[in-house]
Amino acid sequence: MKVLVVEDEKEVAALIRKGLQEQGFCVEVSHHGTEALGLATSHQYDAVVLDIMLPGRDGLSILKTLRKQRNAVPVILLTARSEVEERVEGLDLGADDYVTKPFYVEELISRVQAVVRRASGNQLSLLQAGDFTVNLITHEAKRGDRAIRLTAREFGLLEYLMRSPGRVYTRTQIIEHVFGYDFDPNTNLVDVYIQRLRKKIMGSSDSDLIETVRGVGYRFLKP
Ligand code: CA
Repeated sequence: MKVLVVEDEKEVAALIRKGLQEQGFCVEVSHHGTEALGLATSHQYDAVVLDIMLPGRDGLSILKTLRKQRNAVPVILLTARSEVEERVEGLDLGADDYVTKPFYVEELISRVQAVVRRASGNQLSLLQAGDFTVNLITHEAKRGDRAIRLTAREFGLLEYLMRSPGRVYTRTQIIEHVFGYDFDPNTNLVDVYIQRLRKKIMGSSDSDLIETVRGVGYRFLKP
C-alpha cells in the first residue's frame, strides 16, 4: 500500500513517514503543494495524507483539483484546531477523513488503514487463503497454528498480493507499490523478497501460495 504524505513541517512529515513505514506502508513525502499535486496526478497512491496550509498550493485546492480530475484516491486532511471552516469545506470537496493537529501518529495510521480498507471495498481486517490467515490490524500471519513473523516490507508485499488473489502483478508494479520509486526496477529485489516470503509462508507445508508467472510477475493464488 502506497501513501503520499503532504506536509510542509518536516519533522511532522518525518514522524508520519516513520509510523506508516513501520506498518508496512510505502511512503512518499512532499513538502510543497505544487509538487504534491504533480505527484498525486501522475502516480497512483492508495491514500494521500494532506495538510491544508502549504507553500505553493494549499491542500483544499489540491483536493478540489484531484476530484475534478475524477481521482478518487482516499484523502485524509491534516487540519489545525482553528481551521473549522476549512475542515467542513474539505469534507464537502470529497475528503474521506480528517485529523486535527496535534495528533498521535497511531491515530492517523489507523485512519489511513480504515480509508484504504473502505476504498478497496474490503472492510475485513482478516485476509484468508485456506489455512493461511493474515490480520491487517495486528499484522499477525498464521499458517494453521503456526505464527509467521514478517518484517514490515514482507508484510506490505504480502498484503499487496493478497488483496487481489489471482491477479498477476509485474515486478515494476510491485516495486512501485511496495518499495517506492527510488528503487531501481532492474534489481532482483522483488524476487529476493518473494522467495523469503514464500519460505516463511510455506514452512514445512509443501503447498505454495505465491505463484511465479514466467516472464510476467507474481500472483497470490485464489483459495
Ligand atoms: Ca502546514
